[in-house]
Amino acid sequence: MKHTLLLLVYLNGLTINLLAQSPSPKRPLPIIDVHVHAMKVGTMSVEMCPWFLRDMPGGDPNQPNQSMRSFLNAECVDPLQPAKSDAEMQAAVLATMERLNMTIVASGDAQILHSWKKAAPNRVIPSIGVSSPNEMSVKAFTDSLSSGFYQVMGEVAPQYQGLSPSDMSLDAYFAVAEKQNVPVGIHMGTGGNGMANLTQAKYRASLGRPFLLEDMLSRHPKLKIWVMHAGYPMADEMIGLMGSNAYVYVDLAGFIWSYPQAEIHAYLKRLVQAGFGKRIMYGTDFMIWPKLFETSLSVIENADYLSFDQKRDILFNNAVRFFRLDASKFK
Ligand SMILES: [Zn+2]
Repeated sequence: MKHTLLLLVYLNGLTINLLAQSPSPKRPLPIIDVHVHAMKVGTMSVEMCPWFLRDMPGGDPNQPNQSMRSFLNAECVDPLQPAKSDAEMQAAVLATMERLNMTIVASGDAQILHSWKKAAPNRVIPSIGVSSPNEMSVKAFTDSLSSGFYQVMGEVAPQYQGLSPSDMSLDAYFAVAEKQNVPVGIHMGTGGNGMANLTQAKYRASLGRPFLLEDMLSRHPKLKIWVMHAGYPMADEMIGLMGSNAYVYVDLAGFIWSYPQAEIHAYLKRLVQAGFGKRIMYGTDFMIWPKLFETSLSVIENADYLSFDQKRDILFNNAVRFFRLDASKFK
C-alpha cells in the first residue's frame, strides 16, 4: 500500500512537471468507436478478464449455475471491474472520451443514451436498433429516426432471434434507413461462446454468415451497412461480400477483447491483406467495464503489421467516410 501511495505522489509530481514545461499538451489524435452499448448498470454486473476465450472447456448441461458469470472468465490478476452505478458509468465514459479524444456511436437504453448525449453532445452519435418486428413498429421506427436524435440504425441483431438479416420481416425497416440515408450496423458472426445454451436459445451460428446479407443488399442498393464483429470467424465470406458490395464496411467489436490476441491479429491481418484496410472500423462492443476502451485500443496500437496510416484509417478515417462525418469538426 505504501509503495502505491509513493508511486502516486511521484506520478503526480511528474504530471505537474510535464504540464509546467508544456502549457498546452497535445491532444491525442481523434478516434471513433463505432460500437458502444449504453446500458443500465446492474443487468450484468460481473468482472471480466479480456481475451478470456483461451481454453474453452467443455461444460456439462447438468452443471448448475450456467449463466453469464460462468461464461465470462474472471480468473486473472487484474480483471476489468464493472461500473457500479449509472452515474459512475457515465462519469467514466465521459472522462475516457475526453482522455482518448474519442467519439462513440452508441445504442441501447434510451434514457442512458439521452443522458450521455446531453453531457457530451459532440462525442456521442446515437443509434437505434431493431432486431425483430416485435420490438418496434415500422412507424415508430420511422418517427424515431425523423426526430433527429438518432443518426444511425444499429445494433440490428436478427441472428439472436433465429432470423437471417435478409428475412422479409425486417425489410421495411431497412427500406426506411435506405430512404433516409441512415447507415446501418448489423450483428453478424460471433455472439459469445455458449450463448445458445446460456441466455440466447434462438441464436444460430449459421445465421451469422456474411453471405446471408446479399439478398437484402440487392433489394436496397443505396443502403450503407457495416458488419459488426466483422463476421468473425467467417473471413472468407466476409472478404467475398466486401469484394462484391462496395459499400459494406466492418467493425472489430467484441472479438477484439474476447478471443486470444494471436487469433484477433490473424483475423484483422487477413482482412487487411485481402485489401480491405479502408473498410475496417474500430469498435469495442463496450458494455459495463470502463477500462475496456483502453484494453481494446491497445490491440490496434500493438498491431506491428499495420502502418501508422493503416491504424489511423481503422481508428478514425474509415468511420468518417462511412458515416459521412466532417473530419474538420474533430480536433
Ligand atoms: Zn453484436
